[in-house]
Amino acid sequence: AFIVLCAFTHFMDIVTVWHGVYWLDGAVRALTAVASAATAVWLFPLFPQVVAFRHLLVAERELSRTKIMESERHFRELVDNLPDLAWTARPDGHIDFYNRRWYDYTGTTPADMEGWGWRSVHEPTMLGWVEELWGKSLQTGAPFEMEFPLRAKTGAYRWFLTRVQPLRDADGTITRWVGTNTDIDERRRHQDELVQSVQRRDEFLSIASHELRTPLQALVLHLDTTALAITRGDSRDALATRVAVATKHIDRLTSLIDSMLDVSKVALERLELVREDVDLVAVVRDVVERQQGRAHQVGSTVSVRAPASLVGAWDRSRLDQVVTNVLANAIKYGQGRPIAITIEQTGMTTQLAIEDQGIGIDPADHERIFTRFERAASHNYGGLGLGLFIAREIVRAHGGEIHVESRLGHGARFVVSLPIQPPPESSS
Ligand code: ADP
Repeated sequence: AFIVLCAFTHFMDIVTVWHGVYWLDGAVRALTAVASAATAVWLFPLFPQVVAFRHLLVAERELSRTKIMESERHFRELVDNLPDLAWTARPDGHIDFYNRRWYDYTGTTPADMEGWGWRSVHEPTMLGWVEELWGKSLQTGAPFEMEFPLRAKTGAYRWFLTRVQPLRDADGTITRWVGTNTDIDERRRHQDELVQSVQRRDEFLSIASHELRTPLQALVLHLDTTALAITRGDSRDALATRVAVATKHIDRLTSLIDSMLDVSKVALERLELVREDVDLVAVVRDVVERQQGRAHQVGSTVSVRAPASLVGAWDRSRLDQVVTNVLANAIKYGQGRPIAITIEQTGMTTQLAIEDQGIGIDPADHERIFTRFERAASHNYGGLGLGLFIAREIVRAHGGEIHVESRLGHGARFVVSLPIQPPPESSS
């Protein structure tokens, strides 16, 4: 009413220019004054509400700001605690954010990483390749995916799978790139180990077939000439010698095949011991007697220094195999020089040492030669790289240990320690 009456007072101002209806003008003004006073009185109680409303508006603005900050904090927390390293880049590839894991892993600071600082944690030989592919993605807008190593704060490199996705607006224009680096080091190592073991297996198969073929071809040739000798009517003695030689070839084949079978037994954990009272000294003397011929052929002598007997709870044929493998190596790699075997007992442990004066072994290879298919000597010396592996498995199954003391060119001393009684936890 106050606003309408206000309009009327102005209207009356115009009317009174032509018609002097001052009494009407006065009446309208009087009414306007009343309406104005009434409005003022009526509005007065609303004043505190207006003030309160203003406060409410300010509080609401504050609340939405807090909410935005809260959600930003949530986002940070989430991104910082991702198992991956994560980052974002501008459309031109300039990286403007890294999560905490990135800094924790690389040991860098935001200042180090600004823009293209990421280059400093890349493996130098792969950096060119990474830059080329990343540059292509930036040009074409295609997602980026690649595996490469990143340097940790310790200085060591680990392999990461890096994936980068472009974020686009409604028009399809790239607004940002989002990248993650996932640690795949363990998987890569596994893969490398698998590749290496496949390579080792292939190498083993080619050596094995060569090692098997050599005595087999010799045997075939020998049997051919024996057949001729029979037709020729050679003497019984001559034929008996021929049969003995053929048997040697067959023994060699049998021992090669046995080694391979032993390896698969070890792999399948089927190496079982049959323990009984065994005299180690007798076993060693037996093996030496069997190998005497081969030692003699290469010009080596084999001496044994031991007590009269030394009995323990061992597997006779497995122990025989250990002594055979180690002594055969001493003869093979011993360069025709003397070989010395000593057997001693200290407390409840027996120590057997087989020492030669041959080509010796580089200390860097001391551990490796006890693993499957591993060899340290040149290919001129035949062998499958299984003898020491099998020997160690047998000795360990007895609760003992075998190691080598040697330097390249200064002979080798293999020491086998065997507890006389089975260890308490052993059930075999
Ligand atoms: P193989 O003799 O069939 O190759 P082994 O497992 O018996 O396999 O031996 C592994 C490697 O250890 C050999 O290839 C050789 O390099 C090294 N080795 C073993 N015994 C001796 C030794 N007495 N002197 C020097 N090297 C040895």
